[in-house]
This record gives sequence, C-alpha cells and structure tokens, in this order.
Amino acid sequence: MINSTGRDPAAAPDAARLHEVAPGAYAWVQPDGTWWINNAGVVAGDDGLLVIDTCATAARSERFLDAVRVATGGAPIRLAVNTHQHGDHTYGNSLLPASTVLIGHERMREGLRTDPVIDGCPPFWQPVPDWGPVRRRLPDVTTAAGLTVHVGDRRVELLHPGGPAHTTGDLIAWLPGQRLLYSGDLVFAGLTPLVFMGSVRGALAAVDWLAGLGPATVVPGHGPVLTGPDIERVFDEHRRYYRLVLAIAEDGIARNLTPLAAAAEADLAEFAGWADAERIVLNLHRAYADHAGSDVDLMMAFTDATAWLGGPMHTSV
Ligand SMILES: [Zn+2]
Repeated sequence: MINSTGRDPAAAPDAARLHEVAPGAYAWVQPDGTWWINNAGVVAGDDGLLVIDTCATAARSERFLDAVRVATGGAPIRLAVNTHQHGDHTYGNSLLPASTVLIGHERMREGLRTDPVIDGCPPFWQPVPDWGPVRRRLPDVTTAAGLTVHVGDRRVELLHPGGPAHTTGDLIAWLPGQRLLYSGDLVFAGLTPLVFMGSVRGALAAVDWLAGLGPATVVPGHGPVLTGPDIERVFDEHRRYYRLVLAIAEDGIARNLTPLAAAAEADLAEFAGWADAERIVLNLHRAYADHAGSDVDLMMAFTDATAWLGGPMHTSV
C-alpha cells in the first residue's frame, strides 16, 4: 500500500524493530530494506555494548539507539563497528556517544571520508533522502585484515573477506560462540544484491566464505533475519544472481553492448520481480569495469540505472 506521500506505511520508520537473535545480541531490522533502509545490530556484555552500524538518517539512527537503550537498560555503548562505507550504515555514526570507539576497515574509513553524498543526496532516488542533522564521523580504529573485540566474555570477530566484495572495505561481525553472523551487505535477504563498488567475483567468493563459517543465524544488511534452511537458500540465491550478472556481462562485452544495453536485453529470470532490480545495471557496470581493469563511473552507473528503470529509484527513507 502506498499512501498519499508516495511512501509505503509498512516501511515507515516506526515499523523498525529490535529483535533479540541470541541472548544479549540484537538485530535492528528496518522494513522494507530497500535503498538506504538498512539493518544494524548490538551485542551486550557486562561492561557495555558493541553497536554494529548506524542508519542513514539522524531520525532513524535515534530510533535505533533509543530501542537499544530500552532493551539494554541504558548500558553504555563502548564500541561500534561499520560493516562498510555506505551511508545507510554510517551517516548516523555522529549520533553515537562521543566516547564510543568506532572501528572500520581502512578502506571503509577512506570511502566515508571522501563520500560526497552525506553533504547532499543527488536526485537518483524518490523521495530524495534528507539525512537530517548528521555529520561525517570516521572510525577511530582501522584494520586491513580484521580484529577481535571482546564484549564482556563474548568474542566478536570482525573479519574481512580478503578482497573486494560488496565494497573494498567490508567487515563482518562473527560471534563464534553463538554462531551468529552480522553480514553487513554481503547478504541482501530477498532484495537484489549490490556490488557496484566491490567485485562480482569477490562477492560470489564471499558467499562461500560466509557459508564456511556455518552460521546458525544471519543478520543481513537488508531484509529479514535468517535461520535454519533459509540461510543456505539465500546464499544459493546470491550465487545464482552473481553468476547471472557475470554471464550477462560476458555476453554483453562479446557483443559490444554497453552495460545499459546489456541490462535492457537481459532476462533476469527469477530475479526480475525482486526489489531494487535496477541494480543489475550498477552490477554490470562493475563487471565491465573489472573486465577492462578500470573504475566504475558512479554518476554514469546511477544515470543508467534510472534510465533502465524509467525514473528515480525507490526509497522509503
Ligand atoms: Zn546497505
């Protein structure tokens, strides 16, 4: 249902919920998980909290942090980590207490430092997001390969997939004791995956890396929390999607098609009806750039995605 504001009430900010996914470990799940509507998390120990990502806007980040305060009896947020540089996971960093030690991959820090979108969102989305009173807050601690943090007696491994995947600076938060995985945007549950700032082949390899951990619970970057057989089902969907992107790219390059032309001709099959399907254009730009050994022109990629869609992309921010 879309109301008169053009927004889906089911995706309104007050539809977000904090779910306890293991004792003292929570997922902040924001429907509908589309562009800019992410998931976040928190892990509680006796001595305070680790927060995993913030949200795109000040209002959504405040709502998340309010829910955390209620659920944890106002425990102090000692540590926070950003799973990657994108604004839906990082623009709310400045709402964290000043005393919080913020951790990120070194490329994530550089990506947010030079991110122009926090200063004003280009009109590629409808409605055009307004972040509210946020400012760029960068990690205090960076890592290239990963590190382990201890939250009370809980071990939380912040791991890097070893190369570009969703972005060049991804980290996951893995709790081996609970077999609980906060995957960031290495997993989009039921929504089209996005790898235009990472690598299609790297993202494909990262699915096997995640599966090898043997998670019992996965908090994806977008979409509902996964348990049981849904985990392998969603991992398999990612594998099939990335192989489809690679196949469309290979065919398009062989026939001298642009990424947009290749996307326009492509049969997305089972993925045609997925939310944010226009990401095929962005993902093809990445596959083409990797083939050519060049960079993606982000403005051109977004311009092509809106051309494929016939208008601005959907957000519920
Ligand atoms: Zn995201």
